Amino acid sequence: MSSTELVHPQLSRVFLDGQRLYLPTEELIDALLQDPQLAGRPLGVGRLFGQFVSLARQTPGVRVALGDAREPNKPFILYHVVEVGGALRRVVLEGQTCFACGWRGMTGNARDLALYEGSEDPLGHVRAALEEPSLACPTCGVALTRACIWLHSVAPGAER
Ligand SMILES: [Zn+2]
Repeated sequence: MSSTELVHPQLSRVFLDGQRLYLPTEELIDALLQDPQLAGRPLGVGRLFGQFVSLARQTPGVRVALGDAREPNKPFILYHVVEVGGALRRVVLEGQTCFACGWRGMTGNARDLALYEGSEDPLGHVRAALEEPSLACPTCGVALTRACIWLHSVAPGAER
């Protein structure tokens, strides 16, 4: 099933949604940007790793994680993870604007099936995420267009 555990001094390991994920240090990420492979396995495909890293580095609280595919010897799957209530969660990052007050921010959506690729029961994780309440705009409290479990404010919006 999943590949042999990778041991590297600059990788910490977490177990999330029944899947082992690796969290590289910033120093290792710098090295991987030059040569995007680890233990002979590529990271994502093409320029994707660089895009993942730049989005994470632009958004405080976001980290890049690597995970094994369900089949051995496939490229590492890339994830963005954030901390919610003391636990790591995988999210799709989306830029959003509140149409009521003008708040702008980066939000984390946990409802995308592709997020759980490589985990046990991806559909079950999506269903569980659909049951979770979505965060509202932190300035005015109006529902945001896209459901999210995490957010980072970029521009505060106008209080009424
Ligand atoms: Zn608002």
